[in-house]
Amino acid sequence: MAVKPLMEKVDGIFIEGQEIEASETKSLYNPAKVDEQVGEITVGDASHVKQAVEAAERSWKDWRNKPIEDRARHLVEISDYIEANLNELCHLLVLEHGKTLEEAAIDLKAAVGTLRYYAGLTNVMDEKTVENHQGTMVLTRHSLGVVSIIVPWNFPIILAFLMLAPSLLAGNTVVIKPPSFVPLTLTKILKHFARQLPEGVLNIVTGSGSTVGKEMVEHPKVRKVAFTGSTDTGRTIMAGASKTIKKLSMELGGNDAAIFLKDKPITEDLIQNAILSTFTACGQICYSIKRIYVHRDNYETFVKKYTEAASKLVVGSGLDSKVDMGPINNKPQYESVQDLIERTKQTEAVIKEVGTFAEGVGKADGYFILPTIVTNVNNSDPIVQEEQFGPVIPIMPFDSEEEVVELVNDSEFGLANSVWTSDEDHGFELGRKLESGSVFINTHRLGASAANMPFGGFKQSGIGRGHGVEAVHEHTELQARILRKDM
Ligand code: NAD
Repeated sequence: MAVKPLMEKVDGIFIEGQEIEASETKSLYNPAKVDEQVGEITVGDASHVKQAVEAAERSWKDWRNKPIEDRARHLVEISDYIEANLNELCHLLVLEHGKTLEEAAIDLKAAVGTLRYYAGLTNVMDEKTVENHQGTMVLTRHSLGVVSIIVPWNFPIILAFLMLAPSLLAGNTVVIKPPSFVPLTLTKILKHFARQLPEGVLNIVTGSGSTVGKEMVEHPKVRKVAFTGSTDTGRTIMAGASKTIKKLSMELGGNDAAIFLKDKPITEDLIQNAILSTFTACGQICYSIKRIYVHRDNYETFVKKYTEAASKLVVGSGLDSKVDMGPINNKPQYESVQDLIERTKQTEAVIKEVGTFAEGVGKADGYFILPTIVTNVNNSDPIVQEEQFGPVIPIMPFDSEEEVVELVNDSEFGLANSVWTSDEDHGFELGRKLESGSVFINTHRLGASAANMPFGGFKQSGIGRGHGVEAVHEHTELQARILRKDM
């Protein structure tokens, strides 16, 4: 059945229970068919952010004083809305993002699971009393006040709710900025959510990072910025937030390594798992495999089988069920991946473009890049050191575990890594030596880190931990009330 493209017009500014008009709008185009308009969205400015922060500040007292069970109930309500409208939301997400229907469903369903997980954590703010020879200490978690939440385009739904759910549950009120690329589906969901919350608890301002984002970072009444996005933007945000000493949570870029140890047989299953862990969402996942290290004894076999499997990938529109991989989402990211490929061509690397386009799809129709496998590379080459965020993957041999640990840790990033081995205990031991917030054993696929598993980066991959109880605690101030009996 041919699916009719839809033109979605979204008023993206929603403050204190009201839709706010804006004079400017931004048109959004299908990255798989760049001349096809998908929708448009209003663009806000700094004055909208000021209005939104004031509204959030006003509603904070009532919201924080509600029983946590009441706040949790709202999380369940919005999860029900997403689930009930899954097909329609998936369709729009594919059109504006380019990912496949299956990948869009993962983005939305993971948000549903995350909301329900946090709704179950109603004891997360419980007070703790410590009695000992010093006397009595009562530890209390307080909400922070107004939190700014800034969302990236790659998995906008789950990434928004991974920040929003713990923040609201903790009793904060929020100003949220959907990404400039891929804002439509998320804004639709957020507006529905904002309507069922008390006025001012959730305020939405769409617009650019340099105007809307900047004001959200610098406004003195904002107590915390929760940000998911690139390390470069993270740096700018840290500088802006420093003026008023805001709390920061930062989930930033990654350059994840996968280590295939000598004892791991190179089976079809292993290769399929590795392919999915690399090319899902066209490589545009913060934690997907971005460099591969294979023990030299297995290197040739691995490269051969991996290349054969990648050659079978079909590239095209995410709405076509025969397609395995969609396009890059937007022009700047497309140009950045192309630039990295061009720079790699200037090294001694061997670059192999594989895979095919779906019937009727031309390379120039969208921001398409075929799966690209790079061998004969040095660890210091840009294709190994930089985050590609696209379907280009370097594969390197190693001789010893000591050597591969050094190679993997030789990076300013430290988001996630994986160890593939027949000896799971040994995988855990080797994982301890890797400098990353997560280490996966025998997988690296989307979803490997679930909502209840602390997630975040070592080094320049981030500050703080998202997911789990830790994410709620990061949206609180810890107060100690103390009665000393020993002095
Ligand atoms: P980006 O940094 O370009 O943009 C992210 C958000 O920040 C957008 O909403 C953007 O409008 C906003 N922004 C841009 N400039 C700003 C400024 N000066 N002040 C305030 N806000 C500003 O990132 P992206 O291209 O949307 O996402 C891709 C990057 O995000 C990759 O590096 C990826 O690894 C990273 N990422 C990390 C995680 C994680 O959990 N660690 C998850 C997803 C994506």
